[in-house]
Amino acid sequence: MNDAQRRVVVVVVTGAGTGIGRATARAFSVDGAHVLAVGRRAAPLAETAAGHPLITPLTADVTAPDAPDRVVGAALHRYGRLDVLVNNAGIAGGGPLAELDEAAARRQLDTNLLAPVRLARATVAALADTRGVIVNVTTSVGQRAWPGSSVYAAGKAALDSLTRSWAVELAPRGIRVVAVAPGAIDTPIGAHQGLSPEQRAAVRRWQLAHTPLGRIGGPQDVAWAIRQLCDPAAGFVTGVVLPVDGGAVVG
Ligand code: NAP
Repeated sequence: MNDAQRRVVVVVVTGAGTGIGRATARAFSVDGAHVLAVGRRAAPLAETAAGHPLITPLTADVTAPDAPDRVVGAALHRYGRLDVLVNNAGIAGGGPLAELDEAAARRQLDTNLLAPVRLARATVAALADTRGVIVNVTTSVGQRAWPGSSVYAAGKAALDSLTRSWAVELAPRGIRVVAVAPGAIDTPIGAHQGLSPEQRAAVRRWQLAHTPLGRIGGPQDVAWAIRQLCDPAAGFVTGVVLPVDGGAVVG
């Protein structure tokens, strides 16, 4: 069977209760894939799965020591295989350097950087069996300055770097590794970060002014890119970081 004849059968999406993760889980399920939708809160995950019988919620904190084994074990136990891991769960924010809270910075790096490392490590054997794909969701600001959120940007830039290293390391096992780097996307991330409505509006104004295409993206814009990169027809694409940002990173 060549790459173009294979199809994506089982997908794990972390942070699937809201935003980009929810849109990604639904996009794969609409395509006929089984999706294990991972997040900490049961209610948003149930909403993601509502009306999508191929989506199964799994309540888990990706930073928990047992999370990688629980997530991969659940996928293999339920479906017997794994084709795609989407490392999407993330937390934004952080504050200026002079006011940086060390505990918050550690929590952010644990969620945005180390949890994807542990999850990816736990999926290698299963993905080697299916010639599968790891997708890291990073950010286009990882390639620029992001004053006020420097640790967030640095953690995501590190995940871009891991994407390139893993792509080369895992290529002999048939596993592709890619990243999508969203720009300004309309999701609850600002609210989850604790920003007030006024602060969120100010961020939006700044983002709009710095997005050449002149609009805020939707979660479905990112989900589309993730799905395309996981398509077996994209079998010669690995190690890339694809901006999905309305031109922000080149503007
Ligand atoms: P979001 O709606 O806040 O989604 C993040 C999801 O991650 C939430 O559903 C949250 O659900 C989950 N999550 C957070 N910590 C977790 C943990 N420890 N374990 C399991 N799940 C966890 O924001 P989003 O915009 O869709 O963000 C998705 C990804 O895109 C993030 O990695 C973010 O950094 C990246 N991104 C977003 C933008 C943007 O403009 N929106 C731009 C660039 C990059 P629970 O709280 O229920 O766990």
